[in-house]
Parts: sequence; structure tokens; C-alpha cells
Amino acid sequence: MDKLTGWIKKVSQPLTGKTSNSVNKTKTQGSSSQSGTKTSNKSTTSSQNKPQHKKPVHKKPVHKKPVHSNSQGTSKIGTHSSSRPTNKGPIKHTRKPRKSFSGKKGWKRPDPAKKGDVNVGALKYERKAATKPSRPVNRNSVSRMPKGRTQRPRPMLGQVKRETSNRKFPMYEKLPKGDPMRIIPLGGLNEVGKNSMALEFQGDIILIDIGLQFPEENMPGIDYVIPDLSYVLKNKEKLKGVVITHGHLDHIGAIHHYIEKLGFPTLYATRLTKALIEKRLEEHDLLDKVKIILIDPKKPESKFELGKFTIEYFRVNHSIPDSTGLYIKTEAGSMVHTGDFKFDFTPVDGMHCDYEKMARFSKEGVDMVFADSTNAIKEGFCPSEKVIAGNIDRVFRDAVGKRLIMATFASSIGRLQSILLSAVAHGRKIFLGGRSMIDNIRISQELGVISVPMSAVRKLNASVNDYRPEEVLILTTGSQGEPFAALSRISRDEHPFIKITEDDIIAFSSSPIPGNERSLYTVIDAIYRKGAAVMTKVDMDIHASGHAFQGDIKMMHSLMGTKYVVPIHGEYFMRIAHRRLAIKEMGYDPRNVIMLENGGIIELRGGVARRAKESLDQQLIFVDGKNHADMTEKQLNERRAMAEGGILTLLIELDAKSKKLRKSPRIYTEGFLENPDVHGVIIDTVKTQYAKLHQKFGDKITEKVVVEELSHELHVEMLREVAREPVIQIIVSIA
Ligand SMILES: [Zn+2]
Repeated sequence: MDKLTGWIKKVSQPLTGKTSNSVNKTKTQGSSSQSGTKTSNKSTTSSQNKPQHKKPVHKKPVHKKPVHSNSQGTSKIGTHSSSRPTNKGPIKHTRKPRKSFSGKKGWKRPDPAKKGDVNVGALKYERKAATKPSRPVNRNSVSRMPKGRTQRPRPMLGQVKRETSNRKFPMYEKLPKGDPMRIIPLGGLNEVGKNSMALEFQGDIILIDIGLQFPEENMPGIDYVIPDLSYVLKNKEKLKGVVITHGHLDHIGAIHHYIEKLGFPTLYATRLTKALIEKRLEEHDLLDKVKIILIDPKKPESKFELGKFTIEYFRVNHSIPDSTGLYIKTEAGSMVHTGDFKFDFTPVDGMHCDYEKMARFSKEGVDMVFADSTNAIKEGFCPSEKVIAGNIDRVFRDAVGKRLIMATFASSIGRLQSILLSAVAHGRKIFLGGRSMIDNIRISQELGVISVPMSAVRKLNASVNDYRPEEVLILTTGSQGEPFAALSRISRDEHPFIKITEDDIIAFSSSPIPGNERSLYTVIDAIYRKGAAVMTKVDMDIHASGHAFQGDIKMMHSLMGTKYVVPIHGEYFMRIAHRRLAIKEMGYDPRNVIMLENGGIIELRGGVARRAKESLDQQLIFVDGKNHADMTEKQLNERRAMAEGGILTLLIELDAKSKKLRKSPRIYTEGFLENPDVHGVIIDTVKTQYAKLHQKFGDKITEKVVVEELSHELHVEMLREVAREPVIQIIVSIA
């Protein structure tokens, strides 16, 4: 799970080079009030030598109309971009492209938020019609496109926004009178990651987990995504504490983002979880401000009151030791949150599930179980870590005369223990690659969770080459192909100490998280090219998931004897599989298996649960870079639009009096075609359309009209001619 550093891809670059040097940007959105009274000549010269595009030119929302000033003699920038449709079926034909600005009455701007239409500038656009050129064009423009981009661009990878389901799952019972307990998942539904849930009862709120999610392929430049806790932030005086289930980053990774904003609530966590949280808080200078109460599930103190909630921790098995679930009661009802779990009767860390507690909860009454769905599509029981440990030992036994490089999650501490024990038993020195690997093993050693002689473990350094291949184990991060992880650097020959040779076996004790396959295959290919052997789960069972299979899920629900099941933690298809399992195989009433979305609210009272009519509006919050900036979906979509279509900037110079074009428009592009034929079409379009506009408005023509109309026409034209949708910026200079 150590992917943080590995995903920093900056696809969209700020405009530089010729554009920034030569565009006489005379006014930006952010500086309209300063330059609004003088002619653009003045502002032109004043801004000439500045790095223009560091200014917030691109902060203009893609779909918003440009901001304009009413004052004469200024110039401005308008950006226009159309959001691509999601790749879901054909585009509806709603309106033909407008030939020119007519100003006719009765014409309405379409709602840009409406799905299914291509929003070109301000108009819906009939894409099919765009394939026919409006006038003869020199078609060799196509042959001069960059290699691999001769066809229509691939469809977008889908909007970043999470889809919500239209399916309505019926509820039937009436809620008894009195205050209900409200249970609100704030993350982890229809996604793997950023798990968080709020519980509210009679003015008290508690939070369960505050995790992060690693970015998907369609999130350029994003480090990670965090849950939207605005509801809890708004009500932070009600927050009584945050209970944490286990130490994986998708459960603890966003604590440091929120802890201060939440007013430093007290955290509750088991030993290893607490240590891992402390490590992250320390990295952000927050450690001494946060109080974390240690929970030992074996002790009676693992049951405690938090506001009007009674909470009891219980141990579950997972791929990290000290994982727990929660039994939470209020006057209104009771629920179990499983956390991430599986049942392992032979756990390598020796920590068994609290079966006795689970049985007791069942007796005391469990109205609802919120359970992990990650592996609900997999039949049978999740294999025990013990089996994997045996297989790992076989890898060591068989690797005679070979150097072993093993990659796994730094957070799979149970697995690390098995690997380290085998390495020591087979007389290998252990070299650790990757900061999180080193940190996690150090923390686990200190807590006694991992017990191998420290003399056998060291950081990966030059001395690794002093040993014969069969004396070495390199244990590293990078099992997901993360580009900056140690293994990826090794595979690219960029590591200072390690060169892969034919004497190496590289074993992946992991399986790719969906979406990471491409990067992982790149690493595997690179290793094969160097003649080394690669071993994955396909060759031998050297990885077991930490998440419940169908058997484990059924066992959990049976143990708890719950009335309601709520599938959480997982993509929609995983959760639906969980629902099907409960209904088809366990005989649950379909109305009692509740499907929610993030921000959906369940109300529980007197043994009856129902979905509340209202729900919280949840945004995706992206963390981009080090400044902890909360980037919005809108900004990310702008970034993606630039990455997909490039930027086309036009400088249009108008005569101050006549408002006629003073000269031919100038074109600047970034990431867009630099083809003379296409540029010819652009200039022709601008000239023709501007002439029409001028005919209509004369010297009363406004910059707003110029920017809007030309942007629109250019979008139509670019779709028609080259099937591209660049972000279009128009700079109007009046002198
Ligand atoms: Zn986990």
C-alpha cells in the first residue's frame, strides 16, 4: 500500500515557452479590476516579460463563462472547453451547431451539468454531424498528426466523479418513535479506499476511520484522495472521538489532514495501529497535539463509553496484526462494523479472532452488520496466512544459488514476518528497500509484533554486493509497480546498489490492486529482459488476501445473527456480490440488505433500520502536492481536459475605434496540433466568424461576445476538422 510517492505524475504542464513569451496577456480573470480602465497597450507592455502563465489564467473554470469587464479599452482571456461525455453510449442529438451568433429570442443556453450531451462552448453539439467537413480541407493534415494520434482520441477514462446507483432498494418497516441512531458512510463505498463512517445519536457524533485512497489512472498529478468530512467538520463540537479499526492507510491515511480541522479529537486504536498513526502524525509535526488512547481488545477497557455510544473493540484477522472490528450500541440500537477482516484459524501473528466476543454480541443483540465486501466475489474461505508462510519457505528452499528479491506491501506485516523468518532460517541476510518497509519493520520490531534478530536485518546499501547471491534477501516495496518504489528503480537500473542479473529471482508476494496492472507489468517485463526469473501468485501461492471471501462473510453474519446487512468497503460490484450472497445463500430478506452510497444515511431505532430520505452531498477531495491543497473535481476535470486535448490560445487584436481586426489572429498551442493546415482553418474560422459578428454589432461589439462566440465556433470547428477538443483561450487586445 505504499504508493504515495509512486503516483506523482504531472500530465498537464503550465504553459511555457513561446506562448508565455509571446502572448501579450493583457488581462486575466484575477486582475480585471487593476487593468480595467486603461487601454490594452499599456497592460500589454507591462506584462510582456513576466512568466505569464504562472498567473491564474487556467484557474478559470472550464465550463464557466469568462469574466468580463465593462470598461472599454481592456482585453481579456476567456477559456472554453467542453467536457467530454463519459464513454457511455451515443450522444443525444439535441441541437445542431449554431452557425453564428444570432441573438434570437427564445434560444436558451443548455444546462452544462446535464449528462449525455457534448457541451461545446455554450451549445449542445451534435457530434455525428461534426464528421463532415463544412468546406474542403487539405486532408493531409491528418497524416501529419503525431504518431499514434491519427485516429479520433480514445474515449476519456470516465469522469472522475463517482457514479451513484439508480437502483432503489425497498425498505418497508416504519421507524419507531424516538431519536434514531444515524449511520453515515463517508467513504469506502463504491471504491477501495478512503474508508470513513460517521455515527450520530442525540447530538453526539463519533467517527470510524479516516483513510485515504490512492489515485486512479484518470487523476493526473493527484497524490491521493481523501474522504469528504464536511458534515462532521460543520458539527465538530458534537464529535466525541475517532475510533480506528486497523493501521492500513486506507483507514488511517487521512487522519493528519483532518485532525486539526476537527479540533484534535481523541483517537482510539490498538497497539500497532496506534504506532503507525503516530509515525504519520510525527511526519506532519502533529504528534504532540493528538491524544491516542491505546485499546487492548483482550482487556475489559476495550469496552467504553464515548458520548452516548458504547463501543467495544473485538479482534479480527486481516493482513496487518492488531486489526479490529467494533460493536457499537446506543439506546436506539446496535451495530457491528467489521473493519477489514477475514477468519484465519492459524494466524501467523498468533492473534485469533475474538469468537467468544462475537458470540456474546449476538446474544446481546446486533441489529445491523456493516461488513467488508472487498472479496465478496470469491468463493470459499480466504486462505490462511500459514499456508502462504509454508509456500514462501519453499521459495527459499528452492532458490539454491540465487539471490532473492521479494516485493510485498510494507503494510502486510504478517507477511513480512513470514518472509523474515524464512530468510533467517535459510541463512540469508535481509536488506530492506523502501522507506515504509524500513519504518514498518522497525515499528513492528519495537512492539514485538515481528521477532527476528535485528543483526540479520539492515537497510539496503552497497554492502549487499559483498555477499554471494544465495546469502541475500532483498525485501522491498514496489509490488504494485509504483514508479518511484525501490523495485521499479531496480528494474530500470536506476538503483545505486542493485543491478538485476540472471542470478536473481524476483518474487511478488502480492496481487495487483485493480488499476495497477499496467505499471506492474512494465516492471515485470523489465526484469525478464534482464534475464532474471519472476515469480508471482500465478506460479505459487505466495500471497493471500486479508479480506473475507464468501465463506468468511457468511460466517460473520451467522455469528452475529444480525437482522440487517450493509455491504461496505468495496466497489459496487463487490458490494452487490455481498448483497446477493446474503439474500440468495443466507436467506436474508432483500429489504434487509441495505445498499447505500457515500453520504447516504441509515436511521436505526428499536430494531428497525431504514434509509433516510436525505443524504449528504459528498465531493471527492484530491490531495495534490505538499501543500495539502484540497483540489476539487472541477479543477481535476480541467486538468484532464488539457491533458486530453491540449491548449489552443488565440490572440485577437482589435482596433479601439472601429473594433475591426487589426491583424490576423495569432495562434499559440501547447499539446495541440501545430499543423499549418489546421492553423489555417482556425484563422479562417476566426476571420469569417468575426466578420459576421462585426457586421451585426459594429463598434458596439463587446469582448464577452467575441470570446464566447469565437470559442464556440472554434470548438465546433476543431471537432469537425481534427476531432479534438482543446481547451480554448481567447485573448482580446484592444488598441
Ligand atoms: Zn486493511
